[in-house]
Amino acid sequence: MKILTILGARPQFIKAASLSREIQKHDEIQEVIVHTGQHYDANMSDIFFEEMQIPKPDYFLGIGGKSHGAMTGQMMQMIEEVALKEKPDWVIVYGDTDSTLAGALVAAKLHVKLAHVEAGLRSFNMKMPEEVNRILTDRVSDILFCPSDAAVQNLKNEGFENFTCKIVKSGDIMQEGAMFYKNFARKPSCDIKNDFILCTIHRAENTDDEVRLRNIFEALKRIGNEKQVILPLHPRTKKTVENLKLNIQNLTLIDPVGYLEMIWLIDNCSLVMTDSGGLQKEAYFFEKPCITLRDETEWVELVECGANILAGADKEKILEAYKNYKSLTTDKLPQNLYGGGNASQKIVQYLSEY
Ligand code: UDP
Repeated sequence: MKILTILGARPQFIKAASLSREIQKHDEIQEVIVHTGQHYDANMSDIFFEEMQIPKPDYFLGIGGKSHGAMTGQMMQMIEEVALKEKPDWVIVYGDTDSTLAGALVAAKLHVKLAHVEAGLRSFNMKMPEEVNRILTDRVSDILFCPSDAAVQNLKNEGFENFTCKIVKSGDIMQEGAMFYKNFARKPSCDIKNDFILCTIHRAENTDDEVRLRNIFEALKRIGNEKQVILPLHPRTKKTVENLKLNIQNLTLIDPVGYLEMIWLIDNCSLVMTDSGGLQKEAYFFEKPCITLRDETEWVELVECGANILAGADKEKILEAYKNYKSLTTDKLPQNLYGGGNASQKIVQYLSEY
C-alpha cells in the first residue's frame, strides 16, 4: 500500500511524526511525503524534521508566503503531478491549512482515496481560512478520522452520515506525540524564571486585526509586570508587532522553538495563553490551565470541563481570566477526552483493512 502524505505547516509536521513512526512498523506500507513549503524556514520546518526524526520529504514544492489563492492553486498543480507519478492508494491530509485543502482537492479529482486526520472540527466562524479549509476537505474525504466526540457530532449534524464517507473516532494524534517527545524535552537557552507563562499568538484573526492585537499586547504587558511571559514569536506576529511598534517591554520574546523545547516550556509553565489550536490540547495533556485568546474554539470539551477559558482579544476579559486562572480545573480533568493516545495505530490499522 502506498500513502501520499501532504504536509506544509508546523502543526502538520508534529502530527505526521507520530503517523510516520507507526507506518514504519509496517513493511507492506510505503509512505511518500510531499512538503508543500507553506512553512519553510529553519525554525518553522527543518528543526521539526531533524529533532522529531520525521522521514525527509520525497518532494519539496517550495510554495510559501503567497496569498491563499496563489498558494492553493500552485500546490494543487504540483501535488497533482506528484500524485499522477506516484499513483498512491491513499492521500493523507492533516488539519486545516491551504496544503490540506490542496491535497484534498487533488485526491478527490483524481479519484484517489482520501483520509483526513483531525476531521470534524468546527469553529463555526466562516471568516477563518482554517474553517473553510476543514469543511471543504471533510466533504471530499473517504475517511474522516475524528479526534473527539464533538468532532464526530459536528459531522453528524452536517449530514455526513448520508454521504459515502466513513466517520471514525481515532482520537487525537497529537496526544501520543506529546507523550513520546516528553522524554526528549529540552530547556530553551533563554533566561527562564521559576514561575512563568507560556504564550503564543499567530492566528490571522489576531495578527491581521490591529485592535485585537493591541488589546492582547496591552493585557500581556500588565500581566508581564507580575509574572514572566515567554512568547515564541511566529514570523507573522513578529512582522505586525514591529510594524505597529507594540510595547513589548516586560515580555520575553524569543524565536519560534522546536518541538522538544516547546514541550519543555509547556511542561514547566504555570499557565498557557494562546490562540493556537494544538497548544490548547497540549496544555490539557500536561494538566496546565489555558486562557484562549480567541472568541471560539474547536476544542469545546476543554472549556466545558473547566480547563480552558475563552477570553477573546478583549483586554479586560483577558485580565479577568488571568486573575481567575488558578480556579481552572487541572488536576481532576476527565482522562480520555481525546482517546487513549493510540490514534496513529488506529489510523494505520483502519487504512490497511479498508
Ligand atoms: N509549536 C512549536 N514551537 C513554537 C510554537 C508552537 O513547536 O514556537 C507547536 C505547538 O506546541 C503545537 C503546534 O506547534 O504543537 C501548534 O502549531 P500552531 O500553533 O502553529 O498551529 P495550530 O495548532 O493553531 O494549528
